[in-house]
Amino acid sequence: MKLLLVEDETKLVDSLSHLLKKNGFVVDTALDGQTGLDMACTGIYDILVLDRMLPYQDGISLLKEFRRQGYDTPVIFLTAKDSPEDRALGLDAGADDYLIKPFFSVELLARLKALSRRRSKTLTENVLTAGDLMLNPLRCQATKDNEVIQLTLKESQLLELLIHNYGQVVTKEQIIEKVWGYFSDAEFNTVNLYIHYLRKKLKLPNLKTVWGVGYYLHKSKDVTRVAN
Ligand code: CA
Repeated sequence: MKLLLVEDETKLVDSLSHLLKKNGFVVDTALDGQTGLDMACTGIYDILVLDRMLPYQDGISLLKEFRRQGYDTPVIFLTAKDSPEDRALGLDAGADDYLIKPFFSVELLARLKALSRRRSKTLTENVLTAGDLMLNPLRCQATKDNEVIQLTLKESQLLELLIHNYGQVVTKEQIIEKVWGYFSDAEFNTVNLYIHYLRKKLKLPNLKTVWGVGYYLHKSKDVTRVAN
C-alpha cells in the first residue's frame, strides 16, 4: 500500500514515517497542504493520512478539492481538533476515518489496516481489461506488455469509458459528458488532446478515430476468440 502523509510537525512526520514503513507501507510525505494536494492528485496513493491544520491549505479544503476532482482514495484525518462539530466537518469533507491527537500508534495502524483491506478488495475487483490492455481506475494505472503506466485522472477516466464500450464507438459528446461533466467548458479539442495523450503514453494501435464522431478501441479477431 502506497501512503501519503500530509503533516507539518516534522517530529511527528519522522516518527510516523518510521512506524508506517516498519509496518509495510510505502510512505511519501508532504509538509504543507498545497504540496499535499498536488501529490495526492497524481492518483498513485492508496491511502492519505491528513493533518487538519496545515500551512498554505488546510486539511479540510485540501480534502474537499481532492474529492471534487473525483478521487475516492481512502482518507484518515489525524488532528488535535476533537469536538463533535470538528469530527462532523472532517467526515462531511469526505474523510473515511478520524483519529484524535495524541493517539496510540497501535490504533492508527489498526485503522490503516482496515482501510487497506477495503482498498485491496476494491483494487482487485475493479481492474478492467480490453485485449492485452489492463486498467486499474482507482490507481489510474494502465498495464500493457507487462509495463505499468501511470495516467492522470482524466486520462484514466477516458480510457475507462473506452474499455467499458470496448469495440463500440464513443462519441465526443459522450466523452465530454462522462469525463468532464455536462456543465464543463471542455470542448472537442480537449477530447482530441487527451486521446493524443493516451496514444502517446500507451501506444495503442487499436485506438481508432471515427472522423467527426468519436473514438473506439478496436477488437481484433484474435482477442475476440480468446475472450470467447
Ligand atoms: Ca498541523
